[in-house]
Amino acid sequence: MKRMFSCHRIDAAVKGRVEGLSYKENRDITLERLRYITIAYYDFGGRLREGELMVNRKIAEDILEIFYELYQNRYPLERVALIDEYGASDERSMEANNTSAFNYRTIAGTDILSLHAYGMAVDINPRINPCVTPENVTPKNGAKYALRDPDQCQGKYKDYMIQKDDWIYTLFKSRGFQWGGDWKMIKDYQHFERPL
Ligand SMILES: [Zn+2]
Repeated sequence: MKRMFSCHRIDAAVKGRVEGLSYKENRDITLERLRYITIAYYDFGGRLREGELMVNRKIAEDILEIFYELYQNRYPLERVALIDEYGASDERSMEANNTSAFNYRTIAGTDILSLHAYGMAVDINPRINPCVTPENVTPKNGAKYALRDPDQCQGKYKDYMIQKDDWIYTLFKSRGFQWGGDWKMIKDYQHFERPL
């Protein structure tokens, strides 16, 4: 199964899929610095699926290892597709509970580049692990999961909410990633990032 886990430079086919969508002409990141990764994972029905991610080459090996661990431990992911399958719309990708990484974009509501723009951040099961600010929850269809206490949360997949110090948290932390759920004002429970 390890053969399903692979890492490639961005070829013409992938370039054609991302150009003008998640990848835009810019001075911050070249396609040379990004990698296309294929993985295998289990979905919530226990079915084996193929997934794909685009990440910075600096974290490509670690991301492959992390997703191999997720696969071996049958950690369920609903979907793992390039955000371009959702028109590079973060909102649509999150609503579909799609796990994704690279997207050349700013942090919502600011003009600051997100670490997703460098391929240095990954969002895991974003509907179950929404981004919660004092004002709102995104995606909207993840509102149930804003309540992080499994005893109170009504969500069907509450057992797979990422929690501080749980298995997946430790998996990312041990490879130098920070978790958005540890932030003070904004709680971005889906988000793991490594500084540039
Ligand atoms: Zn994120």
